[in-house]
Amino acid sequence: MLAMLAEPPTSPIDQARDILRRTFGHAEFRGLQAPVIEEVLAGRSAMAVLPTGGGKSLCYQIPSLIRPGLGLVVSPLIALMTDQVAALVQSGVAAARLDSNVDPTEKAETWRRIEDGELDILYVSPEGLMQPWMQERLSRTPLALIAIDEAHCVSQWGHDFRPEYRMLGRLADLFPTVPRLAVTATADARTRDDIRAELRLEASKEFVASFARPELVLSAERKRGAGHKRVVELVTARPGRSGVVYVGSRDNTDKLAQALRDAGVPALAYHAGLDRQVRIDRLEQFLQADEAVMVATIAFGMGVDKPDVRFVIHADPPGSIEAYWQEIGRAGRDGDTAEGITLYGAADMSWALRRIGEREMEETVKRVQVGKVRQVYAMLDGTACRAAAVRRYFGEDGVEACGQCDLCTGAVETSDATQPSQKALSAAHRLGGRYGRGRLVDHLLAKTKEPSDFEASLSTWGIGQELSANAWRDLVEQLLFEGLLREDPNDGRPLVGVGDAEAVKAVFRGERRVLVQTRHEVEAKTRKPRKGREALAIAPSDQALFDALRAWRSGEAKSQHVPPYVIFHDRTLVEIASAKPGSRAALARLGGVGEGKLARYGEAVLQIVGGFAG
Ligand code: ADP
Ligand code: ZN
Repeated sequence: MLAMLAEPPTSPIDQARDILRRTFGHAEFRGLQAPVIEEVLAGRSAMAVLPTGGGKSLCYQIPSLIRPGLGLVVSPLIALMTDQVAALVQSGVAAARLDSNVDPTEKAETWRRIEDGELDILYVSPEGLMQPWMQERLSRTPLALIAIDEAHCVSQWGHDFRPEYRMLGRLADLFPTVPRLAVTATADARTRDDIRAELRLEASKEFVASFARPELVLSAERKRGAGHKRVVELVTARPGRSGVVYVGSRDNTDKLAQALRDAGVPALAYHAGLDRQVRIDRLEQFLQADEAVMVATIAFGMGVDKPDVRFVIHADPPGSIEAYWQEIGRAGRDGDTAEGITLYGAADMSWALRRIGEREMEETVKRVQVGKVRQVYAMLDGTACRAAAVRRYFGEDGVEACGQCDLCTGAVETSDATQPSQKALSAAHRLGGRYGRGRLVDHLLAKTKEPSDFEASLSTWGIGQELSANAWRDLVEQLLFEGLLREDPNDGRPLVGVGDAEAVKAVFRGERRVLVQTRHEVEAKTRKPRKGREALAIAPSDQALFDALRAWRSGEAKSQHVPPYVIFHDRTLVEIASAKPGSRAALARLGGVGEGKLARYGEAVLQIVGGFAG
């Protein structure tokens, strides 16, 4: 247990606040942290949905320190556990993990600490926890609480279903007197209901925070052609910043990372097919670096809590709004302004829909998953505030436009394209779904090389002279999004045919209008983020001290094999550099400096600061 407090605080939440300050070095609770912690401290189970960066982990860490017994945390990923345990140990908390990566000697020592009541928090995997011998051994230890992290994994309505999570419902019977706390960052209403049912939390309170992430500046654009050119452009326009680029296939992570390195960007590739050690090294390299770009499949992410990721670019679009929010959400966890940029196309949508069609699942689940795909493209290709669309999707009421996404800043113009749409639709109809998009456009412009007599005799041959090839390509894309055209993937040589018959008829009768969008790009440089916290600002006179602190931190991080932000966040270093504390007491007042860190690093930091004084 934690050191006894000098003056015993009066209420449980005061005690919690005291630990927040002393151990974690934060001045106040954020958002729903306080009510969630109060509920658990009262010994009641609960479910909490807080956005990424909302501080979910403190919701179970602090009660684990206050309530008697061991706090058990179920977490789906080893990387996630490793990072959290490292951060806790840095803050002086007795924490450990038991998973398949821990060697036997360390495991034995951890069990000894558990059984001697020395450990406050234990991280375990769901598979690990569900082994009977583990339950048996834990049943002899008093438990403070059981936290289920990333609880959306329990639901097949969510976007990250893990069958092994289903077994966690049994915890209610196995440990009937221990409060259970389910936490997640992404769950729509249906997923939330499912979590409660599966984890037997029907009677428990549900805490749902706003999904707003005001520090994120969102934008999306349709892909132009296939290549990686646009991504390279976007990344090189953001020099000296850390970012993640999500790519749909393993193969493309390597290619795109190479293209970025050719352009002078320190880019690394990451996907599940890489050798384990390579993945570990690259992850560490990324976490350690101040300006690395990780080009990865979605295998990279959950548990990557690097706070200073300044942009997430989807080179290929996410599969659902939940996935979008979670992936984009990895930017700006420190609360400073960050960007989420998504490239998408109708071909991606057809591909995603087809994959669902091929998967083995119940029809009802399929329908829900198809709906999720349609909704994410409706948001991406929509015309109203992206952040608001996401928040409404998660069930928030009375949501206002964010005022800073590409759609809020007025970068989109719409115009009526019903007539040319009629031409494109009848051309696709006459061509009988036998050709791809390029050929359809060529046909409209009578540019097909060596057309057959049949093609040249069609009434739609060359009727599209009023638009350029590019404009036709955009319009075809639009018709695909609206389901008026349909694309058959045909093993990588997609063929375009007419889509929903009723909808197409409505266009021909003029009852349904087709509106196309012209987007004007707004580059990051010219856009002024208004909502996020000010970007980290260091006075020029403090820069040398800041650099010295960073160099010291990087040495510490290397020798301890932990990421630098586990020692101190950039923001804390900035505060130190500007406040130049002359005593331990002054240092302790700064954000992110708890007692554990003060004891470990206080002297070193004060010495560095002292070296710059006067
Ligand atoms: P998530 O909800 O995404 O799991 P974390 O628990 O990892 O979030 O917390 C995100 C970051 O916010 C961490 O760096 C943590 O130290 C910080 N944090 C959490 N609670 C507070 C607070 N009350 N005040 C200041 N910073 C906080
Ligand atoms: Zn907006």
